[in-house]
Amino acid sequence: MDKIQAIISKLESTHKLSLEEYEALINAYTPELADILAEKAIIARSKIYGNNIYIRGLIEISNICKNNCLYCGIRCENKNIERYRLNESEILACCDEGYELGFRTFVLQGGENPYFSDDVLCNIIRKIKQKYSDYAVTISLGERTYESYKKIYDAGADRYLLRHETADSEHYSKLHPENMAFEHRMECLSNLKAIGFQTGCGFMVGSPYQTAKNLAKDLKFIENFKPEMCGIGPFIPHKESPFKDFKAGSFELTLYLLSIIRLIQPNILLPATTALGSINNKGKELGILAGANVIMPNLSPKNQRKKYELYNNKIYSGEESAENLSALKNTMKQINFEIVVDRGDIKERR
Ligand code: SAM
Repeated sequence: MDKIQAIISKLESTHKLSLEEYEALINAYTPELADILAEKAIIARSKIYGNNIYIRGLIEISNICKNNCLYCGIRCENKNIERYRLNESEILACCDEGYELGFRTFVLQGGENPYFSDDVLCNIIRKIKQKYSDYAVTISLGERTYESYKKIYDAGADRYLLRHETADSEHYSKLHPENMAFEHRMECLSNLKAIGFQTGCGFMVGSPYQTAKNLAKDLKFIENFKPEMCGIGPFIPHKESPFKDFKAGSFELTLYLLSIIRLIQPNILLPATTALGSINNKGKELGILAGANVIMPNLSPKNQRKKYELYNNKIYSGEESAENLSALKNTMKQINFEIVVDRGDIKERR
Protein backbone atom coordinates (compact mmCIF):
# COMPACT_ATOMS: atom_id res chain seq x y z
CA MET A 1 0.00 0.00 0.00
CA ASP A 2 2.91 2.35 0.70
CA LYS A 3 4.00 1.89 -2.87
CA ILE A 4 0.54 2.83 -4.13
CA GLN A 5 0.38 5.85 -1.80
CA ALA A 6 3.69 7.00 -3.27
CA ILE A 7 2.36 6.55 -6.81
CA ILE A 8 -0.76 8.58 -6.00
CA SER A 9 1.30 11.39 -4.43
CA LYS A 10 3.53 11.46 -7.51
CA LEU A 11 0.48 11.58 -9.80
CA GLU A 12 -1.02 14.45 -7.80
CA SER A 13 2.14 16.52 -7.78
CA THR A 14 3.70 15.79 -11.20
CA HIS A 15 0.67 14.58 -13.24
CA LYS A 16 2.97 11.95 -14.70
CA LEU A 17 3.68 8.28 -14.02
CA SER A 18 5.73 5.59 -15.70
CA LEU A 19 3.92 2.83 -17.60
CA GLU A 20 4.72 0.43 -14.76
CA GLU A 21 3.27 2.84 -12.20
CA TYR A 22 0.05 3.27 -14.19
CA GLU A 23 -0.25 -0.49 -14.45
CA ALA A 24 0.35 -0.94 -10.71
CA LEU A 25 -2.30 1.70 -9.95
CA ILE A 26 -4.83 -0.03 -12.22
CA ASN A 27 -4.11 -3.43 -10.67
CA ALA A 28 -4.39 -1.98 -7.16
CA TYR A 29 -8.08 -1.11 -7.69
CA THR A 30 -10.24 -1.48 -4.62
CA PRO A 31 -13.48 0.39 -3.87
CA GLU A 32 -11.65 2.21 -1.05
CA LEU A 33 -8.86 3.36 -3.33
CA ALA A 34 -11.44 4.42 -5.91
CA ASP A 35 -13.08 6.65 -3.25
CA ILE A 36 -9.73 8.22 -2.37
CA LEU A 37 -8.92 8.98 -6.01
CA ALA A 38 -12.44 10.29 -6.69
CA GLU A 39 -12.11 12.74 -3.80
CA LYS A 40 -8.77 13.98 -5.09
CA ALA A 41 -10.19 14.22 -8.64
CA ILE A 42 -13.10 16.36 -7.45
CA ILE A 43 -10.76 18.72 -5.61
CA ALA A 44 -8.47 19.03 -8.66
CA ARG A 45 -11.44 19.76 -10.92
CA SER A 46 -13.13 22.23 -8.58
CA LYS A 47 -9.99 24.40 -8.49
CA ILE A 48 -10.48 24.98 -12.23
CA TYR A 49 -14.17 24.53 -12.94
CA GLY A 50 -15.81 24.99 -9.53
CA ASN A 51 -19.09 23.06 -9.49
CA ASN A 52 -19.88 23.74 -13.13
CA ILE A 53 -20.95 20.96 -15.45
CA TYR A 54 -20.87 21.61 -19.18
CA ILE A 55 -23.44 20.17 -21.55
CA ARG A 56 -23.11 19.34 -25.26
CA GLY A 57 -26.04 18.66 -27.55
CA LEU A 58 -25.24 15.38 -29.28
CA ILE A 59 -26.65 15.14 -32.80
CA GLU A 60 -26.17 11.68 -34.28
CA ILE A 61 -26.22 12.67 -37.92
CA SER A 62 -25.99 9.21 -39.51
CA ASN A 63 -25.62 5.54 -38.66
CA ILE A 64 -24.32 4.74 -42.14
CA CYS A 65 -20.68 3.70 -41.83
CA LYS A 66 -18.15 2.34 -44.29
CA ASN A 67 -16.10 0.83 -41.48
CA ASN A 68 -16.45 -2.58 -39.92
CA CYS A 69 -15.08 -2.12 -36.38
CA LEU A 70 -15.56 -5.42 -34.61
CA TYR A 71 -17.16 -3.90 -31.50
CA CYS A 72 -19.63 -1.53 -33.11
CA GLY A 73 -23.34 -1.98 -33.75
CA ILE A 74 -23.38 0.34 -36.79
CA ARG A 75 -20.51 -1.53 -38.54
CA CYS A 76 -21.16 -1.87 -42.26
CA GLU A 77 -21.64 -5.64 -42.13
CA ASN A 78 -24.60 -5.34 -39.78
CA LYS A 79 -27.54 -5.87 -42.14
CA ASN A 80 -30.05 -5.97 -39.31
CA ILE A 81 -30.27 -2.24 -38.88
CA GLU A 82 -32.33 0.50 -40.43
CA ARG A 83 -29.88 3.06 -41.76
CA TYR A 84 -30.53 6.83 -41.73
CA ARG A 85 -28.86 10.11 -42.39
CA LEU A 86 -30.02 13.58 -41.41
CA ASN A 87 -30.11 16.30 -44.04
CA GLU A 88 -28.90 19.84 -43.58
CA SER A 89 -32.26 21.26 -42.54
CA GLU A 90 -32.81 18.46 -40.01
CA ILE A 91 -29.39 19.14 -38.46
CA LEU A 92 -30.07 22.88 -38.31
CA ALA A 93 -33.46 22.20 -36.72
CA CYS A 94 -31.71 20.18 -33.98
CA CYS A 95 -29.40 23.14 -33.37
CA ASP A 96 -32.36 25.55 -33.17
CA GLU A 97 -34.05 23.32 -30.61
CA GLY A 98 -30.80 22.94 -28.67
CA TYR A 99 -30.20 26.69 -28.58
CA GLU A 100 -33.62 27.25 -27.03
CA LEU A 101 -32.88 24.60 -24.42
CA GLY A 102 -29.62 26.30 -23.39
CA PHE A 103 -26.99 24.36 -25.30
CA ARG A 104 -24.03 26.33 -26.64
CA THR A 105 -22.07 23.41 -28.04
CA PHE A 106 -23.19 20.89 -30.63
CA VAL A 107 -21.51 17.64 -31.44
CA LEU A 108 -22.18 16.30 -34.93
CA GLN A 109 -21.34 12.63 -34.61
CA GLY A 110 -21.84 9.70 -36.92
CA GLY A 111 -20.46 6.78 -38.84
CA GLU A 112 -17.98 7.36 -41.64
CA ASN A 113 -20.56 8.15 -44.28
CA PRO A 114 -19.08 9.34 -47.62
CA TYR A 115 -22.21 11.48 -48.12
CA PHE A 116 -20.68 13.97 -45.66
CA SER A 117 -18.02 15.16 -48.12
CA ASP A 118 -15.96 18.21 -47.23
CA ASP A 119 -18.30 20.45 -49.24
CA VAL A 120 -21.48 19.12 -47.63
CA LEU A 121 -20.04 19.20 -44.12
CA CYS A 122 -18.36 22.61 -44.41
CA ASN A 123 -21.58 24.07 -45.72
CA ILE A 124 -23.47 22.80 -42.67
CA ILE A 125 -20.78 24.06 -40.27
CA ARG A 126 -20.77 27.52 -41.88
CA LYS A 127 -24.57 27.73 -41.65
CA ILE A 128 -24.53 26.82 -37.96
CA LYS A 129 -21.79 29.36 -37.23
CA GLN A 130 -23.53 32.09 -39.24
CA LYS A 131 -26.76 31.59 -37.34
CA TYR A 132 -25.29 31.22 -33.87
CA SER A 133 -21.84 32.70 -33.59
CA ASP A 134 -21.67 31.82 -29.90
CA TYR A 135 -22.04 28.09 -30.61
CA ALA A 136 -19.04 25.81 -30.43
CA VAL A 137 -19.22 23.12 -33.07
CA THR A 138 -17.66 19.74 -32.47
CA ILE A 139 -17.28 17.16 -35.20
CA SER A 140 -16.90 13.43 -34.61
CA LEU A 141 -16.97 11.73 -37.98
CA GLY A 142 -13.92 9.52 -37.83
CA GLU A 143 -10.76 9.43 -39.89
CA ARG A 144 -10.30 11.94 -42.69
CA THR A 145 -7.31 13.42 -44.52
CA TYR A 146 -5.29 16.36 -43.19
CA GLU A 147 -6.75 18.51 -45.97
CA SER A 148 -10.28 17.52 -45.03
CA TYR A 149 -9.73 18.32 -41.33
CA LYS A 150 -8.20 21.66 -42.34
CA LYS A 151 -11.25 22.57 -44.47
CA ILE A 152 -13.58 21.64 -41.61
CA TYR A 153 -11.53 23.79 -39.23
CA ASP A 154 -11.48 26.71 -41.65
CA ALA A 155 -15.27 26.41 -42.04
CA GLY A 156 -15.53 27.15 -38.30
CA ALA A 157 -15.52 23.82 -36.43
CA ASP A 158 -13.91 24.28 -33.03
CA ARG A 159 -13.42 20.76 -31.74
CA TYR A 160 -12.96 17.23 -33.06
CA LEU A 161 -13.52 14.00 -31.16
CA LEU A 162 -11.72 10.90 -32.37
CA ARG A 163 -11.23 8.19 -29.79
CA HIS A 164 -7.89 6.48 -30.23
CA GLU A 165 -9.70 3.30 -29.01
CA THR A 166 -6.46 1.77 -27.66
CA ALA A 167 -2.88 3.04 -27.54
CA ASP A 168 -1.48 -0.44 -28.20
CA SER A 169 -1.11 -1.31 -31.90
CA GLU A 170 -1.47 -5.05 -31.36
CA HIS A 171 -4.66 -4.54 -29.34
CA TYR A 172 -5.90 -2.11 -32.02
CA SER A 173 -5.60 -4.82 -34.67
CA LYS A 174 -7.74 -7.17 -32.56
CA LEU A 175 -10.55 -4.59 -32.45
CA HIS A 176 -10.49 -3.50 -36.08
CA PRO A 177 -10.49 -5.07 -39.53
CA GLU A 178 -7.25 -5.25 -41.50
CA ASN A 179 -7.97 -2.15 -43.56
CA MET A 180 -7.90 0.05 -40.45
CA ALA A 181 -4.48 0.99 -39.10
CA PHE A 182 -3.41 2.12 -35.65
CA GLU A 183 -0.77 4.39 -37.20
CA HIS A 184 -3.40 6.16 -39.27
CA ARG A 185 -5.64 6.72 -36.25
CA MET A 186 -2.71 8.28 -34.38
CA GLU A 187 -1.72 10.36 -37.40
CA CYS A 188 -5.28 11.71 -37.59
CA LEU A 189 -5.12 12.74 -33.93
CA SER A 190 -1.82 14.55 -34.33
CA ASN A 191 -3.11 16.27 -37.50
CA LEU A 192 -6.19 17.49 -35.64
CA LYS A 193 -4.06 18.95 -32.89
CA ALA A 194 -1.60 20.52 -35.34
CA ILE A 195 -4.46 22.20 -37.23
CA GLY A 196 -5.67 23.81 -34.01
CA PHE A 197 -8.78 21.85 -33.06
CA GLN A 198 -9.58 21.29 -29.41
CA THR A 199 -9.02 17.59 -29.78
CA GLY A 200 -10.59 14.65 -27.98
CA CYS A 201 -9.30 11.11 -27.78
CA GLY A 202 -10.61 8.20 -25.72
CA PHE A 203 -11.14 4.49 -25.38
CA MET A 204 -13.53 1.80 -24.23
CA VAL A 205 -12.93 0.24 -20.84
CA GLY A 206 -13.03 -3.56 -20.91
CA SER A 207 -12.93 -3.91 -24.68
CA PRO A 208 -12.17 -7.48 -25.76
CA TYR A 209 -8.57 -8.61 -25.15
CA GLN A 210 -7.75 -5.43 -23.18
CA THR A 211 -5.14 -5.87 -20.43
CA ALA A 212 -4.00 -3.62 -17.59
CA LYS A 213 -0.85 -3.01 -19.66
CA ASN A 214 -3.00 -1.74 -22.53
CA LEU A 215 -4.85 0.60 -20.18
CA ALA A 216 -1.54 1.84 -18.78
CA LYS A 217 -0.54 2.72 -22.35
CA ASP A 218 -3.84 4.57 -22.81
CA LEU A 219 -3.10 6.66 -19.73
CA LYS A 220 0.47 7.32 -20.84
CA PHE A 221 -0.83 8.36 -24.25
CA ILE A 222 -3.25 10.84 -22.64
CA GLU A 223 -0.44 12.20 -20.43
CA ASN A 224 1.75 12.84 -23.49
CA PHE A 225 -0.88 13.89 -26.03
CA LYS A 226 -2.60 16.33 -23.66
CA PRO A 227 -6.02 16.23 -25.35
CA GLU A 228 -8.52 18.94 -24.50
CA MET A 229 -11.20 16.23 -24.17
CA CYS A 230 -11.26 12.55 -23.45
CA GLY A 231 -14.23 10.20 -23.83
CA ILE A 232 -14.12 6.92 -21.99
CA GLY A 233 -16.94 4.49 -21.40
CA PRO A 234 -17.37 0.80 -20.79
CA PHE A 235 -17.43 -1.55 -23.78
CA ILE A 236 -20.95 -2.96 -24.13
CA PRO A 237 -21.55 -5.86 -26.54
CA HIS A 238 -23.88 -5.61 -29.52
CA LYS A 239 -25.71 -8.73 -30.57
CA GLU A 240 -25.01 -8.23 -34.28
CA SER A 241 -21.25 -7.80 -33.85
CA PRO A 242 -18.45 -10.39 -33.73
CA PHE A 243 -17.94 -9.41 -30.07
CA LYS A 244 -21.52 -10.28 -29.10
CA ASP A 245 -20.38 -12.92 -26.57
CA PHE A 246 -17.83 -10.78 -24.75
CA LYS A 247 -18.84 -9.33 -21.43
CA ALA A 248 -19.31 -5.63 -20.84
CA GLY A 249 -16.51 -3.56 -19.33
CA SER A 250 -16.52 -2.77 -15.63
CA PHE A 251 -18.53 0.22 -14.46
CA GLU A 252 -16.34 0.61 -11.35
CA LEU A 253 -13.09 0.45 -13.31
CA THR A 254 -14.43 3.13 -15.68
CA LEU A 255 -15.10 5.44 -12.71
CA TYR A 256 -11.63 4.71 -11.31
CA LEU A 257 -10.03 5.58 -14.66
CA LEU A 258 -12.06 8.81 -14.88
CA SER A 259 -10.51 9.87 -11.56
CA ILE A 260 -7.00 8.96 -12.72
CA ILE A 261 -7.44 10.88 -15.98
CA ARG A 262 -8.64 13.94 -14.05
CA LEU A 263 -5.47 13.75 -11.95
CA ILE A 264 -3.25 13.35 -15.03
CA GLN A 265 -4.76 16.46 -16.57
CA PRO A 266 -6.84 18.49 -14.10
CA ASN A 267 -8.24 20.85 -16.75
CA ILE A 268 -9.41 18.14 -19.16
CA LEU A 269 -13.01 18.12 -20.41
CA LEU A 270 -14.19 14.68 -19.40
CA PRO A 271 -17.68 13.42 -20.19
CA ALA A 272 -19.77 11.05 -18.11
CA THR A 273 -20.64 9.13 -21.28
CA THR A 274 -23.84 7.57 -22.56
CA ALA A 275 -22.25 4.11 -22.23
CA LEU A 276 -21.60 4.81 -18.54
CA GLY A 277 -25.26 5.79 -18.10
CA SER A 278 -26.37 2.77 -20.11
CA ILE A 279 -24.81 0.15 -17.84
CA ASN A 280 -25.80 1.84 -14.59
CA ASN A 281 -28.81 4.08 -14.04
CA LYS A 282 -26.76 6.30 -11.73
CA GLY A 283 -23.93 6.37 -14.27
CA LYS A 284 -24.04 10.12 -14.96
CA GLU A 285 -24.03 11.18 -11.31
CA LEU A 286 -21.36 8.70 -10.33
CA GLY A 287 -19.29 9.71 -13.35
CA ILE A 288 -19.43 13.35 -12.22
CA LEU A 289 -18.58 12.31 -8.66
CA ALA A 290 -15.55 10.43 -10.01
CA GLY A 291 -14.20 13.51 -11.81
CA ALA A 292 -16.12 13.97 -15.08
CA ASN A 293 -17.40 17.47 -15.90
CA VAL A 294 -19.27 17.13 -19.18
CA ILE A 295 -22.61 15.54 -20.12
CA MET A 296 -23.77 15.08 -23.69
CA PRO A 297 -27.58 14.75 -23.83
CA ASN A 298 -29.07 13.40 -27.03
CA LEU A 299 -30.41 16.10 -29.33
CA SER A 300 -31.00 13.90 -32.40
CA PRO A 301 -34.52 13.79 -33.89
CA LYS A 302 -36.53 11.52 -31.59
CA ASN A 303 -37.63 9.17 -34.37
CA GLN A 304 -34.01 8.35 -35.27
CA ARG A 305 -32.43 7.92 -31.82
CA LYS A 306 -33.07 4.21 -31.45
CA LYS A 307 -31.29 3.52 -34.75
CA TYR A 308 -27.93 4.84 -33.54
CA GLU A 309 -27.39 1.67 -31.58
CA LEU A 310 -23.65 1.29 -31.07
CA TYR A 311 -24.30 -1.34 -28.39
CA ASN A 312 -27.37 -3.03 -26.96
CA ASN A 313 -29.52 -1.23 -24.38
CA LYS A 314 -28.06 2.18 -25.23
CA ILE A 315 -30.15 4.79 -23.41
CA TYR A 316 -31.76 7.57 -25.39
CA SER A 317 -34.68 8.75 -23.23
CA GLY A 318 -35.21 10.24 -19.78
CA GLU A 319 -32.33 12.37 -18.59
CA GLU A 320 -30.32 11.23 -21.59
CA SER A 321 -32.50 13.30 -23.89
CA ALA A 322 -31.96 17.00 -24.41
CA GLU A 323 -35.68 17.79 -23.89
CA ASN A 324 -35.42 16.55 -20.32
CA LEU A 325 -32.64 18.90 -19.39
CA SER A 326 -34.54 20.18 -16.35
CA ALA A 327 -34.55 16.66 -14.84
CA LEU A 328 -30.80 16.37 -15.44
CA LYS A 329 -30.29 19.82 -13.87
CA ASN A 330 -32.15 18.65 -10.77
CA THR A 331 -30.13 15.47 -10.54
CA MET A 332 -26.93 17.49 -10.72
CA LYS A 333 -28.22 19.96 -8.14
CA GLN A 334 -28.85 17.08 -5.75
CA ILE A 335 -25.15 16.23 -5.84
CA ASN A 336 -24.20 19.94 -5.61
CA PHE A 337 -23.24 20.50 -9.23
CA GLU A 338 -24.66 23.05 -11.62
CA ILE A 339 -25.29 22.74 -15.34
CA VAL A 340 -24.28 26.01 -16.99
CA VAL A 341 -25.21 27.71 -20.27
CA ASP A 342 -21.73 28.03 -21.70
CA ARG A 343 -19.61 26.89 -24.65
CA GLY A 344 -17.59 24.97 -22.10
CA ASP A 345 -14.12 25.55 -23.47
CA ILE A 346 -11.08 24.15 -21.72
CA LYS A 347 -9.66 26.42 -19.01
CA GLU A 348 -6.09 27.13 -17.92
CA ARG A 349 -4.13 25.01 -20.29
CA ARG A 350 -1.06 23.63 -18.65
N1 SAM B 1 -17.23 7.27 -36.56
C1 SAM B 1 -16.73 8.13 -35.56
C2 SAM B 1 -15.42 7.62 -35.00
O1 SAM B 1 -14.95 6.59 -35.42
O2 SAM B 1 -14.85 8.31 -34.17
C3 SAM B 1 -17.72 8.41 -34.44
C4 SAM B 1 -18.75 7.39 -34.13
S1 SAM B 1 -18.14 5.98 -33.24
C5 SAM B 1 -19.51 4.91 -33.36
C6 SAM B 1 -18.16 6.59 -31.57
C7 SAM B 1 -17.54 5.72 -30.51
O3 SAM B 1 -18.46 4.75 -30.05
C8 SAM B 1 -16.33 4.91 -30.89
O4 SAM B 1 -15.19 5.71 -30.87
C9 SAM B 1 -16.32 3.79 -29.83
O5 SAM B 1 -15.35 4.00 -28.83
C10 SAM B 1 -17.75 3.84 -29.27
N2 SAM B 1 -18.37 2.49 -29.38
C11 SAM B 1 -18.63 1.81 -30.50
N3 SAM B 1 -19.11 0.59 -30.21
C12 SAM B 1 -19.16 0.49 -28.86
C13 SAM B 1 -19.54 -0.53 -27.95
N4 SAM B 1 -19.93 -1.71 -28.38
N5 SAM B 1 -19.46 -0.26 -26.62
C14 SAM B 1 -19.06 0.94 -26.18
N6 SAM B 1 -18.67 1.94 -26.99
C15 SAM B 1 -18.71 1.73 -28.32
